[in-house]
Amino acid sequence: MQASQRISTLLGGGSDGWEVFNRARAMIAEGTPVTELTIGEHDIRTAAPILQDMHRAALAGHTGYASIPGIHALRDAIAARVTARTGVPTARENVMITPGGQAGLFAAHTAVIDPGDTALFIDPYYATYPGTLRGVSARPVAVQARAEDAFQPRAADIASVAAGAKSLLVNSPNNPTGVIYTRETLEGIAQVCRDHDLWLISDEVYDTQIWEGTHISPRSLEGMAERTLVVGSMSKSHAMTGSRTGWVVGPADMISHLINLSTHTTYGVPGFIQEAALFALELGEPFEAEVAEPFRRRRALAQEVLAGKNVVGTVPNAGAMYMMLDISATGQSGEAFAYGLLEAHQIAVMPGESFGAAAAGHIRVAMTIEDKAFTAAMETLCAYAQSLAPQT
Ligand code: PMP
Repeated sequence: MQASQRISTLLGGGSDGWEVFNRARAMIAEGTPVTELTIGEHDIRTAAPILQDMHRAALAGHTGYASIPGIHALRDAIAARVTARTGVPTARENVMITPGGQAGLFAAHTAVIDPGDTALFIDPYYATYPGTLRGVSARPVAVQARAEDAFQPRAADIASVAAGAKSLLVNSPNNPTGVIYTRETLEGIAQVCRDHDLWLISDEVYDTQIWEGTHISPRSLEGMAERTLVVGSMSKSHAMTGSRTGWVVGPADMISHLINLSTHTTYGVPGFIQEAALFALELGEPFEAEVAEPFRRRRALAQEVLAGKNVVGTVPNAGAMYMMLDISATGQSGEAFAYGLLEAHQIAVMPGESFGAAAAGHIRVAMTIEDKAFTAAMETLCAYAQSLAPQT
């Protein structure tokens, strides 16, 4: 018996650049200590008060089927938060709770794509994007942001492939680059969406990790609220990756469709987890800043290590828990460099190529281990790059 085309081609085939990650995990399984700077997950666990509230909610009986679009209070809290942050009036009817941002990405695309439709996305991209698009039977088309533009995508590059496309997926603050799209970039993107009647899917799961400048939600730009679906999540902002709680914000009629989809897929998110997410949101911005703080600190530490190093180039990472480093001066690909670093120094980073062709010659470093070990790993990484550089 054969699996469907859609599911059997989810990974696209060929090398996906994750071999280095798999090799690191195999080394760990064999007992070799590896410094892991790979996955985007905090080195802290979900805060105890949030878990206590989850426990309270479970004991209070919130263990049955929960309201499918999400409990009113959580939808209202997210609507209020989005309104306060973006200035776009947002109500409960504009919000649906999903089991994490990833499910939100899949649901949002399911809502706008028919089989065979072209779905645009920006390269470098978060690793699941192409599979998510294939999963909804879209034809994924990548638009490369350029290293020379510090990975700010050009509107003209998007426009050149936008004719006949259905949607565009963007992510700022960006994984893997850490770049925050400027107002100019986002205005350009919005213009292309309006000109070509595209849905914009805006992945904003890193919107609380802002180190420099400001995050602008493209939904707040002129004429965009009616054609934008914003994907958000508690994962990164509240260190709740395992609680699988996210949302989609968009026009009320689209949210109604998404609720129908949930009825036929996830049947909602557990009530006791939603209660805990509400509790976490009510801790407000000081708590979000506390969760983000270690990454802000490590970014500064890395900048100190990298200052004056001309073999390792930096991409201006204004947000998110990653740094993208340009190691092309070593003459190696991101993949060869990452393999070499793993074998020589047991430090695991992600090759840029895992996130698309645009990030070739780069590596992504997740700032997700404690400060001292992080600084030491950055120093070793720089020394390793220096040792590879052609001597002049
Ligand atoms: N979008 C981006 C850009 C991500 O980096 C991630 C997780 N690494 C997600 C979405 C999905 O996160 P979650 O499903 O945990 O909300």
